Amino acid sequence: METLTTTLLIIGGGPGGYVAGIRAGQLNVPTILVEGAQPGGTCLTIGCIPSKALIHAADEFSKATTYAAQESPLGITLDNPRIDLDRTVAWKDGIVKRLTGGVGALLKKHGVRVIKGWARVIDGKTVEVQPPAGSEQAVFRIRCEHLLLAAGSEPVELPFMPFGGPVVSSTEALSPDSMPRRLVVVGAGYIGMELGTAYRKLGSKVTVVEAFDRILPAYDADLAKPVAASLARLGVELRLGTSVLGMEDGQVRVRDASGVESRLEADRVLVAVGRKPRTTGWGLESLMLDMDGRALKVDALCRTSMRNVWAIGDLAGEPMLAHRAMAQGEMVAEIIAGKYREFAPAAIPAVCYTDPEIVVAGMTPLEADHAGVEFISAHFPFSANGRAMTIESLDGFVRVVARKDNHVILGWQAVGAGVSELAAGFAQSIEMGAQLEDVARTIHAHPTLGEAVQEAALRALGHALHI
Ligand code: FAD
Ligand code: NAD
Repeated sequence: METLTTTLLIIGGGPGGYVAGIRAGQLNVPTILVEGAQPGGTCLTIGCIPSKALIHAADEFSKATTYAAQESPLGITLDNPRIDLDRTVAWKDGIVKRLTGGVGALLKKHGVRVIKGWARVIDGKTVEVQPPAGSEQAVFRIRCEHLLLAAGSEPVELPFMPFGGPVVSSTEALSPDSMPRRLVVVGAGYIGMELGTAYRKLGSKVTVVEAFDRILPAYDADLAKPVAASLARLGVELRLGTSVLGMEDGQVRVRDASGVESRLEADRVLVAVGRKPRTTGWGLESLMLDMDGRALKVDALCRTSMRNVWAIGDLAGEPMLAHRAMAQGEMVAEIIAGKYREFAPAAIPAVCYTDPEIVVAGMTPLEADHAGVEFISAHFPFSANGRAMTIESLDGFVRVVARKDNHVILGWQAVGAGVSELAAGFAQSIEMGAQLEDVARTIHAHPTLGEAVQEAALRALGHALHI
């Protein structure tokens, strides 16, 4: 066994852990990062990046099949488009490889020692790392001053329909060797909607079973409507208010809200009913840290209940988003290096890569109402936006929520093609305390979807120009 000592020891090389490592390295904090799988974590290897690659491939193929099936007003015709799934998956894997390689190189460049293997917590200052199976590497015992826990999350399993065989999680769904003829998706949240849509566009018959009475229950109903309409056009079957009972003989047994049971044919079942922080199986329990539900409890500095033990990202609960993990990682590294920081973002934007996309930042009208804030809200539809017409995407809108008294912007929501790219402007305006007037008087380039952002602000002020 080899013993190492360091100032900062990071467990987990996902967006939280690797960003903490890079920043700590930049600030000359001696740092070791332990990763059992690949640097980049869930996000780069089996999450954000591969899912967006697959969604893009599905969108392109869907366009081609649509042009082949019907006369296009654009004058485009195509014959018999086909997809070579092995090449699609290889292309996606190539992107993952480039990015994970890049993360490894950045860590190295900043002097962070990366140790491959699964860490086991011995105490709040000591961790043991077993080498990966088949490796010659020594067992390491690492002593540290600061322990940063960034072990991420894992998919929730349904006890009566465990993963295995035809029942898969997003991980397997992102590397298919064939398209199932009939896919049943359990859960109409982020993963179910993003990947369910992609599979439909790649040719599977898709049925989505959701316990709630509508899709994307985490988003407000107005935002989910254009997505539901698009699913209907694509021929995705929705079984809402329905619970799954189990799987037998290639059929998923379900029960609807009125108690009626039925069976759904399925060659494959994607279970996407949420993810849970990875808090067990690696000795973490022995620290007996305070919990917040299934996640580690942290304060505004990402400190756990034990001195010099920190937790970030999915392990520290909702929202389980890569950019939140990164922001926390960067912050903890700076605090350990002696800077004063606090995690108090005015907004953490969220994007759902459905068709059309959804983006939110800050408060919705309902949330402002619940918070007891007097607010004004206005929306601008893409049906009145020139750019939206030129990309054949008239569905959706941009909505703004602002305080009534001083017009400070509290929130933005949008649904429409390509609106994910509006997230930056939304978050910036909220973080900088912008007022409606600031956005309304900013010159927005024409023709862009961003003009709908300016028009929503103008409309909230009572003088929209193009509606
Ligand atoms: P993770 O990325 O989960 O990384 C944790 C790392 O720790 C892993 O690499 C793991 O191997 C390692 N580890 C765990 N235990 C140990 C141990 N004992 N020893 C050594 N190593 C260990 N978020 C977005 O913001 N946008 C998206 O578009 C998006 N899409 C997603 C799509 C899918 C299909 C999934 C599953 C998730 C998606 N997410 C998305 C969520 C995002 O991936 C996570 O929020 C993010 O990865 C969390 O980062 P993290 O650093 O906390 O943990
Ligand atoms: P989710 O929480 O987004 O959605 C789970 C859905 O499953 C919910 O609608 C819930 O009502 C439903 N559900 C729960 N139990 C059920 C049951 N027994 N039967 C039927 N429906 C059931 O979870 P997810 O889609 O698994 O994604 C996990 C997390 O990963 C997300 O919460 C998010 O943090 C992250 N993620 C983010 C993105 C993104 O940012 N674009 C994409 C994918 C995943």
